[in-house]
Amino acid sequence: MTLEIPRGARHILETLLRGGFEAYLVGGCVRDLLRGVPPHDWDICTSARPEETEDCVAGRRMIETGLRHGTVTVLGEGTVCEVTTYRAEGPYSDGRRPDYVRFVSSLERDLARRDFTMNAMAVDLEGNLRDPFGGMADIRGGLIRCVGEPGRRFREDGLRLMRALRFSAELGYEIEEQTAAAIHENRAMLECVAAERINGELNRLLVGQNVGEVLRRYPDVFCQFWPQLEPLVSLEQNSPWHCWGGWEHTIRGVEAASDHVVLRLAMLLHDIGKPGSRFTDENGMDHFYGHAAAGAQLAGQMLRMLKFDSKTRERVVALVERHDVQIPCQDRAILRWLNRLGEEAFFQLLEVKRADSMGQAPELAGERLAKLEKMRTRAEELIAQGRCFSLKNLAVNGRDVIAAGVAPGPAVGRALNGLLEQVLSGQAPNEREALLKLL
Ligand code: ATP
Ligand code: MG
Repeated sequence: MTLEIPRGARHILETLLRGGFEAYLVGGCVRDLLRGVPPHDWDICTSARPEETEDCVAGRRMIETGLRHGTVTVLGEGTVCEVTTYRAEGPYSDGRRPDYVRFVSSLERDLARRDFTMNAMAVDLEGNLRDPFGGMADIRGGLIRCVGEPGRRFREDGLRLMRALRFSAELGYEIEEQTAAAIHENRAMLECVAAERINGELNRLLVGQNVGEVLRRYPDVFCQFWPQLEPLVSLEQNSPWHCWGGWEHTIRGVEAASDHVVLRLAMLLHDIGKPGSRFTDENGMDHFYGHAAAGAQLAGQMLRMLKFDSKTRERVVALVERHDVQIPCQDRAILRWLNRLGEEAFFQLLEVKRADSMGQAPELAGERLAKLEKMRTRAEELIAQGRCFSLKNLAVNGRDVIAAGVAPGPAVGRALNGLLEQVLSGQAPNEREALLKLL
């Protein structure tokens, strides 16, 4: 087998071999090479102890990443390589990390501690594959399968559950039956996993090509770290707009949104306020008055719980809060909303509304989608024409206002905002002379 191994990694492998040690590429990079996609990071495992590795690669830049765990990061020739001594893991008592690691002498034992068969392969410089658990066959079959007994592996480390879902979403692979059953069974292990780690996997999962199927099959896992999802998963909605229940509608919205984490999160949470706002009228019809505002509040809590950064959180909350506002397709309304949200968030809102419609009864969604597309095109035209929707493109600035006799200080801002308001409402043209006269 000939593989594209970057020079930096090749040199480290050669150096270790010359030093009399065994050395292999291992883990994610082998998986990706075999799948025919470029790896994004490089891991090497070796029989050399960390100090021996350091001696071998002396002269190159190194970071002693986790000497205790046997890892040395070696930089150079455009690659970053993590070089780790063959190791086995001691017992797990906290459901997340081994109590200690032990250096071992065989590659096989090192591979056995790894999570999934596709991640438990190694390849040497000649391209010889070491695959004791059938990882290659599982890659061919598109299957994610635990190395060893799945239940035990998930109980050792709860993060593996999220990794399985994330790989399934990213690669479009199915989770093998027994592995899948063990995920459902052991989902409570997520309690042992730090919010930041769940966050990291969730981010990648959400932008994965197969995110919809993962949400469909593992709602219980998502409810484990976000119990607020439970009522949405079981929500039925009897309304002409909806031919699906709350969860399937949500999933279709997530699938329809482009693969940006803010948009995917906004779609996942856009109707989170619905169960609490449900009102069934005398005809048996469901209404969800106020669900967007209630949802924004819940979404904020949920994102905080999982330690999302404030920029992501605030944007997602803003989108959830406004996902069902009606924006008339008129220049004045478009400019007003551009002013209110800013360009980026405005277009994200249109995208959220589009994705939301894609999850609604198809016979009714068509018209909404056409209107949204028209609005998007018009907004782009207005921006290209330099139409005014913020102080940035108002025809007068602070200096003009001061020159016209307004006292420097807060009054300047008030005057400018007053003028912008008149422009936005169509009472004044965005022209210098006219605006100065208005002052
Ligand atoms: P990617 O880099 O695309 O996220 P990866 O498989 O390389 O995927 P890493 O987190 O870089 O993931 O880990 C490198 C390797 O270490 C994995 O391929 C796997 O063999 C092993 N590994 C990582 N995390 C775990 C874990 N929680 N339990 C067991 N083995 C793990
Ligand atoms: Mg990796």
